[in-house]
Amino acid sequence: MQYMDNSCKRCLLRDMAGNEDIKSQLEKTRSLMSDEEKASDEKYEKRLSQCKSCDNLLDATCLKCGCYVEIRALADGARCPAKKW
Ligand code: SF4
Repeated sequence: MQYMDNSCKRCLLRDMAGNEDIKSQLEKTRSLMSDEEKASDEKYEKRLSQCKSCDNLLDATCLKCGCYVEIRALADGARCPAKKW
């Protein structure tokens, strides 16, 4: 949902135009991680799906921890600060 001030409730980076620097950082981080470090594609998408239905997501950022959720969810051992994943 896009608001008048252009903030986007429940949007991921992939849903938003712009933010090219952050998107580039996401891809760089992903490329530097080993397969053992990374969450599986299935686990990653499931985590992001949970974030997209969470009230704490605003402008692709988790309001609980301040992270871009697409970056936070990359590591297999990462945890949601609200214990949703
Ligand atoms: S609290 Fe958890 S589920 Fe909600 S946006 Fe943050 S990381 Fe995602």
